[in-house]
Amino acid sequence: MIIILTGAGISQESGISTFRDAGGLWENERIEDVGTPGGFARDPDKVLDFYNRLRRNLKSPEITPNPAHHALARLEKESREQVLVITQNIDNLHERAGTKNLLHMHGELYKARCNACGTVTQWETDMSRQDVCEKCGTAGRLRPHIVWFEEMPLYMDEIWRAFSKCRLFVSIGTSGHVHPAAGFVKLAQQAGARTLELNLERSLGAWFFHDGRYGKAGKVVPAWVEEILAG
Ligand code: NAD
Repeated sequence: MIIILTGAGISQESGISTFRDAGGLWENERIEDVGTPGGFARDPDKVLDFYNRLRRNLKSPEITPNPAHHALARLEKESREQVLVITQNIDNLHERAGTKNLLHMHGELYKARCNACGTVTQWETDMSRQDVCEKCGTAGRLRPHIVWFEEMPLYMDEIWRAFSKCRLFVSIGTSGHVHPAAGFVKLAQQAGARTLELNLERSLGAWFFHDGRYGKAGKVVPAWVEEILAG
């Protein structure tokens, strides 16, 4: 199995800012304010408004999948080997490019979760504190279905199981600061997999990988996929 981990860098050429490149601020906000459960408890309107802005931005016509997203979808379609994409991104560019076997380990911008009953629903419009859960009818308990810092990522059981079958692990556009994703390279190596980093620059954990290729994802990823498919 080929496992691919993607991060904010793969969507940068699609017009979505990365996280750490902006100097610790994400879209001009402090991560403690908009990316933690404490921030949401202190000022829910500010947090809802932040994700409303990101959601609206994702809808703008100029935000589309780039050649790196398309290349990964092509790899899944044409490879004889099973391909799993695990993304830390909350955007929907992988699915829009056609990737099917995809896990959003940090949640999805277009989903809401009810804190009263736990139901996750599709949510593509603005969210407010007045909104009502369509499953349990409770008002004021919806939140973005996003994994914030200090929270447990999603699909971890499935991810552990997949790594036991991993032959090749490729990390794309991620800085290696956020755990547990930053440790996946070690899981892959424990399973005997070959490991490759594709990134703009050497990441924090670059030296854990067998190989690295550096440059913009829109160039480096299609070139790598071409090679893999050529056998
Ligand atoms: P990060 O911002 O910490 O790191 C991005 C990495 O991508 C950096 O190493 C940078 O050098 C590299 N990069 C930048 N432009 C690139 C390009 N054009 N091609 C290839 N590489 C490029 O991102 P992260 O490691 O994913 O961690 C940040 C967290 O923030 C994640 O948990 C993610 O959920 C969230 N986030 C998501 C999005 C999104 O959904 N698109 C955007 C920003 C942040």
